[in-house]
Amino acid sequence: MKDGRLGDMPADEFEEYGRRAVAWVAEYLAHPERYPVLAKVAPGDVTRALPAEPPMRAEPMEAILADFERAIVPGITHWNHPSFFAYFAISGSGPGILGELLAAALNVNAMLWKTSPAATELEEVTLGWLRQMVGLPDAFMGIIMDTASVASLCAIAAAREAVGEHRFRDDGSSGGPRLRMYTSEQAHSSIEKAGIVLGLGRAGVRKIPVDGRFRMDPAALRTAIEEDRGAGWRPFCVAATVGTTSTTSVDPIPAIAEVCRAEDLWLHVDGAYAGIAAIAPELRWALAGCDRADSIVINPHKWLFTPIDCSAFYCRRPDVLRAAFSLVPEYLRTAEADQTAVRDFMDYGVQLGRRFRALKLWMVIRYFGWEGLAARIRAHVHLGQRLAEWIDADPDFERLAPTPFSTVCFRAHPPATPEEALEPLNTALLEAVNASGRAYLSHTRLRGTYTLRFAIGNIRTTEEHVRAAWDLIRAELRRLHDPG
Ligand SMILES: *Cc1c(COP(=O)(O)O)cnc(C)c1O
Repeated sequence: MKDGRLGDMPADEFEEYGRRAVAWVAEYLAHPERYPVLAKVAPGDVTRALPAEPPMRAEPMEAILADFERAIVPGITHWNHPSFFAYFAISGSGPGILGELLAAALNVNAMLWKTSPAATELEEVTLGWLRQMVGLPDAFMGIIMDTASVASLCAIAAAREAVGEHRFRDDGSSGGPRLRMYTSEQAHSSIEKAGIVLGLGRAGVRKIPVDGRFRMDPAALRTAIEEDRGAGWRPFCVAATVGTTSTTSVDPIPAIAEVCRAEDLWLHVDGAYAGIAAIAPELRWALAGCDRADSIVINPHKWLFTPIDCSAFYCRRPDVLRAAFSLVPEYLRTAEADQTAVRDFMDYGVQLGRRFRALKLWMVIRYFGWEGLAARIRAHVHLGQRLAEWIDADPDFERLAPTPFSTVCFRAHPPATPEEALEPLNTALLEAVNASGRAYLSHTRLRGTYTLRFAIGNIRTTEEHVRAAWDLIRAELRRLHDPG
């Protein structure tokens, strides 16, 4: 913008730089391998490359884009790199990125139906499609949240609202029963964090032991609930996991649902990663029993090639969710909502302002199609199984958990290496692989054992990438273990 002129960037300038930005993105997506996966910067490097003071005068786009390349991109860890195998690999796919662009251009706020009818209705339609794709019944209302963490927070708030004998919403927790919820030792930290935020405290979140395959033990759950009732707690919710973060284990949802029915507890299912697998017919088993859950979250931004953030939250008791969250001041009232003809999504969660996230998800589903999406998930699971076979066949490595999907837990364990030497060896191995810039893995700890995690989920990942990373891991192990 020219100094002294008001208004936005002129249309011709937008078009010029818009073309350049899109060209940059196209080139980037075609060759993400030209960058190291893990950013090779030290803390503070990016800050030092940027002026400490804001620009007083308008700056040309030319200079801004040049600085993007010079100062920002080197500090980027490339989640879109096909050799990103850390945490859960995710993808910003072409149609998803274009959806983000259009949503940013429209810049609507989907807080009320009236504030953009298409945003609300597309969200309903698209989440209806996704619900059908994963095989959940129609009774589940869908709403898009930013993250699974926030979806689980809302689920647990609804579970608390469903406790009949105390009005938490109106009276707060003082004077109410001491609430307790249950989740497995392998559950994501967001569940416990939700307990902290909702005032249950960490004491209000009881962790149930897992079996040899890292799945919640329903008998232990039953015993814990019984014990707690005896001790004066009010059990109210179980948060089970389909695809735990460390090993992608799947809790036995049918048995847990049975406990919840018998004990009258809200069942929330955290399927952030693996719930998506259910779109492939042969992986539908992942959500078996979830039709009996009260709520479930699955993340299109994790394994459905939709740019972060986009988390699909389904609730079978939307009235309870609404009762927990709806608070409508005069300035947000509309005739349509008063006539209950429409859904105002602000009534079903914490935030008022809501991005138009449905657009990118709608584009992703349409562009790839249900079959195309399922084929990509299937390919990732196939690659995960291949890698598991390679690890099992190599005497220098061992797998440390079953591999139900596309995430493999393992460690280097050369024969005759003493146990106490294995953690330093594997820590050094992970460090060496990641420092190469050619692949990026992360770690976890399973029953005290330091464990490497290799998560396959990026849309651009092929067998070649997995093979190359596996060869790199073996080469680095040889170098570390046998430096002579
Ligand atoms: C990744 C993950 C989460 C957190 O997801 P966000 O959308 O980043 O909040 C929660 N639960 C499980 C099982 C996960 O794998």
